[in-house]
Amino acid sequence: MNIFKDVKQVVDTREAAEFYGIDVNNSGMAICPFHDDNNPSMKVDERYHCFACQADGDVIDFVANYFELSKIEAAKKIAKDFDIEYQSDGYKKQNNIKKINQSKPNRKEVSIDNEFNNRIRLYNSILCDYRDLLEIYKKVFVPSFGDKELEPKFVIALRNIEFVDYLISLANGTTEEKIRLLMYNESEVKKYEEIVRTIRSKVS
Ligand SMILES: [Zn+2]
Repeated sequence: MNIFKDVKQVVDTREAAEFYGIDVNNSGMAICPFHDDNNPSMKVDERYHCFACQADGDVIDFVANYFELSKIEAAKKIAKDFDIEYQSDGYKKQNNIKKINQSKPNRKEVSIDNEFNNRIRLYNSILCDYRDLLEIYKKVFVPSFGDKELEPKFVIALRNIEFVDYLISLANGTTEEKIRLLMYNESEVKKYEEIVRTIRSKVS
């Protein structure tokens, strides 16, 4: 018998990835655990392939890389975690697999943690881009002597810079402050993202 072949026949990469706490969306895409991924870049089905970092392989490669095991250790781990037992006609998966692997309770937390930090990093970079834009508004639209009215963009800059600085401080603050940013200021961040994107598309 060949444990590699048998394990691959019974468990595909998607099943294993989900089992070890990775969220796979309806299109079979997941946040890649092998690089610093913000958006789901990894296609997970029978095999896995990351379109960003080119990580690629089958279920055994996946588990080996994810848990830093050798291939034989990975195959044995899958066989154990999925209750794959050798029967007269080959390895078979048992029916009642617990979806949460009790022996590795931390994996899910680790992946939530990564997701959280990735989102904070993304928000921080959006906020900094928007802050740069406001700084430009402030300089370019500064009123000159004799102007009857202030440029609206100059007013926006003056009005928003302090608030955006506050949001940036949340993104770089304590865990509680980061949570506050995600919970209460998501709509502002999305709005700023849209503004920055629109400006960029006009410029390029
Ligand atoms: Zn990747």
